[in-house]
Amino acid sequence: MLAHRTGLFATSGTANARAAAQAAAASGKEIVDLTAGEIWAELDTTLRAGAISAIQHGITRYTDTVGLLELRQAVSRKLSLETGQLWNPDEVALTTGAKQALFNASMVLLNPGDEVIIPVPYWTTFPAQVSIAGGQPVFVDTRATAYIPRLEDLRAAITPATRAIIVNTPSNPTGVVYDQATLRGIGELAVAHGLWVIFDECYGAFAHEPCAHQSMVSVVPEVRSRLVIINAFSKALAITGWRLGYMAAPREVIKAVKALQSHTTSNPNVIAQHAVLAYLEAGDGAYERGLRTQLRNARSVGLGILSSLKRVPRPTAQGGFYFYLDLSCLLQRTCKDRLEKSADDVANVLLSRAGVAAVSGTAFGDPAGMRLSYGGPIDKLEIGLQRLVEVLNTWDP
Ligand code: PLP
Repeated sequence: MLAHRTGLFATSGTANARAAAQAAAASGKEIVDLTAGEIWAELDTTLRAGAISAIQHGITRYTDTVGLLELRQAVSRKLSLETGQLWNPDEVALTTGAKQALFNASMVLLNPGDEVIIPVPYWTTFPAQVSIAGGQPVFVDTRATAYIPRLEDLRAAITPATRAIIVNTPSNPTGVVYDQATLRGIGELAVAHGLWVIFDECYGAFAHEPCAHQSMVSVVPEVRSRLVIINAFSKALAITGWRLGYMAAPREVIKAVKALQSHTTSNPNVIAQHAVLAYLEAGDGAYERGLRTQLRNARSVGLGILSSLKRVPRPTAQGGFYFYLDLSCLLQRTCKDRLEKSADDVANVLLSRAGVAAVSGTAFGDPAGMRLSYGGPIDKLEIGLQRLVEVLNTWDP
């Protein structure tokens, strides 16, 4: 009945985990939801005023397909500051969240059968979108190297069919921030092999000291003609529901994206565009600093609680707002044996027994991993992590 391509994807694992948490809550259970890929924060006043002003001025109509010129100019200025290179508005497309920017990238860059290298654990949407676009995800395991890909592993994965590599730093789900040497190595590899780098820096605003986020193009300027930068205001300004992202890439890529987007969604939401424009023109960065402080506090409270875990290593949580647990030693009788259960089992027990919702690593290609968000209210985080520690410390496979 349905097209063959529907076999290439299922509802994202993170959305499923959120739905399971909501269903449990709807049945009357008190649930602490640590699945959210978003920050709970009051809306910034400049964003609020920008949106209200757009409505009061009767703004209702389409904008340019890839967004208001003024906003693309503002994003170009932001990118120029962040990368130390000059960006022009015709190298920028505004999209309905970073998700659409990533989808656009796959659709305009991949031919059927083209291979795309994706480090594992990966954000669940990366391989799904590559497959929908007719490409072939090729996975490179990073679990033995603290979730940072080794250059020799990436090199070994390159074949004549390789077209692109996806780099996501700070990473969802692992929370690692790629170091400069890794960024340089990947950039140089891409240049040497003529690959595209799809560089997702949606969590770039949240790298926790001493780690620092760097754009790949600042480290390897020569990669620019093969680089697609993906970003969004969703996480950085805590407006996930407003659906505003962007991509920056060579002009011919943006031209193709504009044509594609003209047949899919057209411009992203016009009110969100005006609100973010007001923010970029008038915001003094205090709101973002506030979000960073909120996350820094939540991270340190969370790490304090997680330090009581007995058989699970303390997560590094270098960036973003996720603790990523490696449950391998818990899931196998000795660390050398194969897994007897997966993190799905742990997530199910956590939800049913302790009322804590977490995302199993199977959603990210890692059956031994577990992602816990610390973007939500801190009191809930404390309760949720204390219950989780209790369950994991008494876990008996
Ligand atoms: N990229 C990564 C790594 C993400 O984690 C997410 C959302 O969770 C996105 C892209 C999509 O962001 P948006 O909500 O702006 O579409």
